[in-house]
Amino acid sequence: MIIEIDKNSGFCFGVVEAIRKAEETLQQQDVLYCLGDIVHNEAEVERLTKKGLITIDHERYFTMKDTTVLLRAHGEPPSTYEYARQNNIQLIDATCPVVLKLQQRIRNGRESDKIENTQVVIYGKKNHAEVNGLVGQTHGKAIVIENIDEIDKIDFTRPIELYSQTTKDLEGFHLLANELKRKAIDVPVKIHDTVCRQVANRIPAIQKFSARFELILFVSGQKSSNGKMLFHICQSVNPNSKFVSSIEEIDEQWIKDVDSVGICGATSTPKNLLEEVAEAVRQFAYKLLK
Ligand code: SF4
Repeated sequence: MIIEIDKNSGFCFGVVEAIRKAEETLQQQDVLYCLGDIVHNEAEVERLTKKGLITIDHERYFTMKDTTVLLRAHGEPPSTYEYARQNNIQLIDATCPVVLKLQQRIRNGRESDKIENTQVVIYGKKNHAEVNGLVGQTHGKAIVIENIDEIDKIDFTRPIELYSQTTKDLEGFHLLANELKRKAIDVPVKIHDTVCRQVANRIPAIQKFSARFELILFVSGQKSSNGKMLFHICQSVNPNSKFVSSIEEIDEQWIKDVDSVGICGATSTPKNLLEEVAEAVRQFAYKLLK
């Protein structure tokens, strides 16, 4: 049986760096608070929890003081930094540099913009941590659009600046951008393509990969939106694609009648989990031969 792990799957550099910072800090102290899941993968969160990482939500964060908190790759709005300054919280800022740059662009764009009534539009998922961080740069004024059906939230007689959440799809972004340009009447529409290529480039790669195998095992945490999107792409290319979060979820029956298995995952899937899945498939295949 051919068993292959997709070399393009696994953590993006933003997540790798956040985990590196968490582990480095935990070598110097027993406990480190992390605002939100450091990565949308239950197995990896559990591994770091055993080392002393404690995941907290925003409600708890805004009651804390005199401690150290890690900000994950998704980034945070200015209010999180302000609270830390006022309450003696030392921040380990692991915001991905790509997200930081995007936050700056939105902030600078607003500050330098002489046209008072410009609308900042963000193509993204409502209440996603990264999107909350971006909306925070506009004092809560940005309009979040999840898909083209929500376009009526925009006033087409006022100037528009369009940005994207880094993990959204390029196709949807271009569709929205074209529609904004078409509908805007005599007002400027500035398009800022801020889709992260770490994710976008995985789409064509995963399409090619999925087509090469009889069975695809897509490994991801349930909470990862990037995981859901990439799995959907696998399924559209190869209907025999299965979503698993751990080796316990692999059904022996899936492997019984196939000669090739491709294993891939999201930007939040650890490499070692992909290897564990490959090893489990190898064991099943060996058992079937006996
Ligand atoms: S997907 Fe891109 S922007 Fe998001 S954390 Fe990874 S590298 Fe950074």
